[in-house]
Amino acid sequence: MNNVLFWLSFYLLMLAVSIAIGYCKGNMVAGALLGYVLGPVGVILMLLSKNRKMLPCPECGDRIHRHTYICPHCQQKVLNRLQP
Ligand SMILES: [Zn+2]
Repeated sequence: MNNVLFWLSFYLLMLAVSIAIGYCKGNMVAGALLGYVLGPVGVILMLLSKNRKMLPCPECGDRIHRHTYICPHCQQKVLNRLQP
């Protein structure tokens, strides 16, 4: 019985982690779905998935928010030049 409880809480933890990663990457629905269906595997998939919020700057390569107008690292205008 204890074993079942352990795995249940483990599974719920994985689901929460997956949703949290999805939230950070701007894709919370995918995080919830993957965590719900795949559990720990979904968490790994979310970790490997592309970050839809943060994109690499075309000038310096640093990860910046996709709605950023000027890159905070190299001061270049990057609006509409970020590729998802
Ligand atoms: Zn930059």
